[in-house]
Amino acid sequence: MRETSVRELIAATGGVLISGNEDAVFSNIVIDSREATKNSLFVPVVGERNDAHKFLEAVYTAGCRVAISSRKDIFLKPDFNVVLVENTTKALQDLGTYLRSKLSLPLVGITGSVGKTTTREMVALALSDLKVFKTPNNFNSQLGVPVTISRINDEEIGVIELGMSMFGEMERIAKIVKCDCAVVTNIGTAHIENLHTKENIRSEKFHIMDGMKAGSVVFLNADNDMLSTPPKREGIIYKFFSAKGNTDCDYYATDIVFHNAMPEFTAHICGRSIKVILNVFGEHQVSNALVALAVAHHYNLDIESASKHLSSFRGFSHRQELIELKNLTVIDDTYNASPDSMKASLSILKDFRAKRKIAVLADMKELGADEVKFHREVGEFISENVKPDAVFSVGELAREIVNCTDTFGKSFDSNEALEKYLLEYLEDGDVCLFKGSNSMRLFDVVDKIKNYE
Ligand code: ATP
Ligand code: MG
Repeated sequence: MRETSVRELIAATGGVLISGNEDAVFSNIVIDSREATKNSLFVPVVGERNDAHKFLEAVYTAGCRVAISSRKDIFLKPDFNVVLVENTTKALQDLGTYLRSKLSLPLVGITGSVGKTTTREMVALALSDLKVFKTPNNFNSQLGVPVTISRINDEEIGVIELGMSMFGEMERIAKIVKCDCAVVTNIGTAHIENLHTKENIRSEKFHIMDGMKAGSVVFLNADNDMLSTPPKREGIIYKFFSAKGNTDCDYYATDIVFHNAMPEFTAHICGRSIKVILNVFGEHQVSNALVALAVAHHYNLDIESASKHLSSFRGFSHRQELIELKNLTVIDDTYNASPDSMKASLSILKDFRAKRKIAVLADMKELGADEVKFHREVGEFISENVKPDAVFSVGELAREIVNCTDTFGKSFDSNEALEKYLLEYLEDGDVCLFKGSNSMRLFDVVDKIKNYE
């Protein structure tokens, strides 16, 4: 982050200095008080349960000398430079907008119901003949996006993940990022609890175009029924990608083969064909890699070189992570789950070579009124498409998956009961896929199994 003064902070947020002076500077932004240092601006976020204003004294003690505040009755010191604002989250976003206006590098925005982080990583790799900035961790939210923008330094291009779960959120963060081009990976059912319909999810995601200049390109996944015929948008050029070989698209994949569930395919990029070999699982990675090549091509990079960079992608922990134990293979996809990502993961098992294939599934959360139906559909998907040797579930909702499949299965009420059973059940040569929503903590079960071997 470039050094920024309190004077600029006041101008960006419309705030008022209530202690200290305008010449003070900061060169990083923190919302977690434990990360505050002498160069930090501390932003105390007010949530439903917590009000981080109580940490103002702690950050001062840690050496931090700049903060914003939406309260006056706070810890103050003459050398603590504090700007009073109406709302700290809004002020952080305003600061993000200001910092973006000082940057000249192009930013590629990535959104979609699932696959944002994976696609972000692949796009960043495909662009890596340039110096690339990418969103750290999963900083894709109302707070994460402005913090992300503040972390850009002297990179030549940035890849920014934009997430949302409520109406209005995408518009706000898209106006901060002002993407130069954007990718929509797919429209599914993640966060349907808040947004009610897939149409709403699509129109919210499409707010990624807010703040984009006329003539900008948006890459859309033509294989997704909600994205194949998007409503026209003034000034935006849609380009389509298809992992299913749709030759009407600007970018498409053919000749997909799997080597132990890891795809190899031919990418057709505006008339050129190149071979892509991936070292991550699943058919869905074809579409992530394809759009990564499309973005590299868009920025006139060598797509042969981009394809080689893509082969180095190995995924990340708890997201379809391959763990080879002495006698057992674990696919740890316990980071999170929605119906679309669960089906994508289960498809890995279909193509995997192993003595027995076992799916261990936990509840998918935040699915709203149709949550039971979504779980039942996964059960039917397993019977029709995956046909593993066994399906085990934990949680009241995931029980419906087991009830709706004709595969051998068992349901458990707790991770402990599941663990105990698995340690008895698993045999040498098995492959075992674990997937469920983060709050179900299936990763604890994976840990126990790893430690047992
Ligand atoms: P979050 O909303 O938590 O930020 P995300 O959109 O960033 O999620 P990822 O973390 O990239 O998504 O992937 C989550 C899971 O979705 C992966 O473990 C994988 O199972 C699945 N996935 C990745 N890419 C796709 C895709 N293109 N289509 C369907 N599923 C996918
Ligand atoms: Mg993500």
